[in-house]
Order: sequence, then structure tokens, then C-alpha cells
Amino acid sequence: MIPITVVRLPGEVDELVLEVLRSGQLAQGPLVALFEAEFAARHGVAHAVAVNNGTTALVAALQALDLGPGDEVITSPFTFVATLNAILEAGATARFADIGADFNVLADAVAALVNERTRAIMPVHLYGYPCDMAALAGVAARHGLAIVEDAAQAVGAEVDGGSVGRYGLGCFSLYATKNLSTGEGGMITTDDDVLADRLRLLRNQGMRARYQYEIAGHNYRLSDLAAAVGIPQLRRLDEATTARQANAAALDAGLAGVAGLTTPSPAGSGRTHVYHQYTVRIGADAAIGRDEAVAAISEAGVGCGVYYPRVVFDYECYRADPRVVIDDVPAAVAAAAEVVSLPVHPFLTAGDRDRVVEVVAGVVGR
Ligand SMILES: *Cc1c(COP(=O)(O)O)cnc(C)c1O
Repeated sequence: MIPITVVRLPGEVDELVLEVLRSGQLAQGPLVALFEAEFAARHGVAHAVAVNNGTTALVAALQALDLGPGDEVITSPFTFVATLNAILEAGATARFADIGADFNVLADAVAALVNERTRAIMPVHLYGYPCDMAALAGVAARHGLAIVEDAAQAVGAEVDGGSVGRYGLGCFSLYATKNLSTGEGGMITTDDDVLADRLRLLRNQGMRARYQYEIAGHNYRLSDLAAAVGIPQLRRLDEATTARQANAAALDAGLAGVAGLTTPSPAGSGRTHVYHQYTVRIGADAAIGRDEAVAAISEAGVGCGVYYPRVVFDYECYRADPRVVIDDVPAAVAAAAEVVSLPVHPFLTAGDRDRVVEVVAGVVGR
């Protein structure tokens, strides 16, 4: 079996975790501060604020912007459910702009939804491929909107000569299977000193100094134990990303020309894909349906996954919620019916890659 994800931590993690365990300081402390400083430097921003997961990163970002009831946030309909849940948790209303061939929201579709209630746009860099941020930042600037990037899948990805997460507030997930993992964890990046300060307060019960509360906050803190797991991976992030990109290139080459199959084509200028997922489409013109293909590929020992089988609001619990506005998103609905993600993790061998190509080409192209 070739699994779709393999989690293997750099050896340096062991020593650093042991140091934390022996220090007796397990909660947020000096290693979180170090992790934040290195994460900010790596992403070219003034501040990185560590939190306990990617979902709370998004919630804290929206709260730092003072969003609440009646405020609309425009996001992608083709995303993990946390994007939507964070908007609802903050008390705001979610709107959905349709996506392009790169699976990310289109700036024109976002612009078409802007109205007097719109306060923020929340683009999602799906699968590790950055959105067209120049176009989206243009929409935001024209209408005075905040930008909260859902960069959960895109640690280290670059767009227009810099990292994602620098356009407003950047929200990263450090969940177990993400490209950089602390098991559970998150990070919020920004160049804005005032927002960074508010995020630090929100993360820690709204407390400026001991028992000096300025706002109603949360416990969204990350632990030093988690930071010890993350720091060595951050230092080796480029290595891991390069391995993912090499695997993707091999899959692109091997799967080119398979009838009915579309490989991810990051053709956008100045955007680097960090391949959290390598996602192909199995179209209506393929000899086999998507779900049937998924079953056959798995049966042949190649792990694969459907991210995501439905647009994010297409569940009973959201249909009844007045804060979830159902917008028409035909491209996202079509993508949800056609996508399959294949193994691209950094520990694939050349033999694994050949096997993935052989199995997928055999199943889809027969
Ligand atoms: C993983 C993920 C999140 C949430 O992150 P958690 O750390 O699991 O809370 C949010 N958005 C997207 C697109 C994700 O993939």
C-alpha cells in the first residue's frame, strides 16, 4: 500500500521535545516565541502568532478585525469545512464565490458578491496553490475589505515574489497531516502591529498583563511541546517542499495524455504550488466515473482521497442556517464531482511514483 500521507519527523525533533519535557515548561513559553519568530521570518512578515489549531487561527483573525453579526465574509465553496465553521463561530455571514480551473476563488466572482454588508474576503489556497492574490487584493482595496487568507494547506507557498500570508491576516494549520505539523496547531501571520497585538490578547484570555483583561478572549495558546515538534520541520521546510514538487512533476509527466484525466496545471504566473495535495480531475469524458476510479485505485494499493466530495455548504446543518447564503457555484459543484488526490508526500520513492502512475493510468485510461 502506498499511503496518501506519511508523517515522519526530522530526528532533531526528539532532542528538542526531550528538552521541553525535562524543562518542566510544557505550556506556551520560549519555544513558542522562537517558533513564531522563525515562522514570521520564513514568511517575510513582521508577526506570527501561534495558536492551538488552524480553525481558531481563522476565528481569531475574524475577531481581531471585529467582525460579527450582519457582516459578510466572501470565501470559497470548495474548501475544508473549518473555513465555513470559523466564519459562523465569529458570528458573521458566509458568501461563496465560484472557483477557477486552479480550484481557487475567482476575483471577478468575489467582486460580484460585494455589497454594503461585506467586510472581508477569505480566499483559500487550496491544495497548497496560492490564489491570484494580486487580483483579490485589488478587489479588497477597491471596496475597503479586509483579507484573511486561509493558508492552512499552503505553508511556504509563494505568490508574486513573496510568501502567502502577507496580504492581511494569514491563517495556517499545523494539523497532523499538513505540510508542517505539530499534531494540532496553527499560526497567524501579519504585518499589522495593531492586529498582531489584538491576536495575542485574544489568544490568551484577553489578558495584557497578569489579571489585566482588555477584551473577552479565549485560550487559543499553543504549547512549547508542540513548538518543539514544529521548529525542526520549519527549518527543513524547503527540503520537504522540493520533494513534493519533484513528485508532482513526475506524476504530471507520467499522467500526461491519459484520456479524461486532467493533471493539476499551476500555470498561474508567479505562484508556486507546495502540493499539500496532488489533485487530478476525472472528467465526464473518462472511461470510468470518479467514485469507481477511487475504489479501483485504492483496491490496487494506491492511497487516494476525495477532497472534497461536496461544496462546503451542501449539508443539512448549513442549509437551515440564515448566516450561510447559498450562492450559485457550478464550477465548484463540478470540481467536487471530479477530483481525486494522489500520494505526493515527500517520502515517496521513484518506485512508488512509477506505481502510482501505472495504477492510475491503468484505471482511468483503459
Ligand atoms: C486543515 C484546514 C483548516 C483547519 O485547520 P485545523 O488545524 O484542522 O483546525 C482550515 N482550512 C483548511 C482549508 C484546511 O485544510
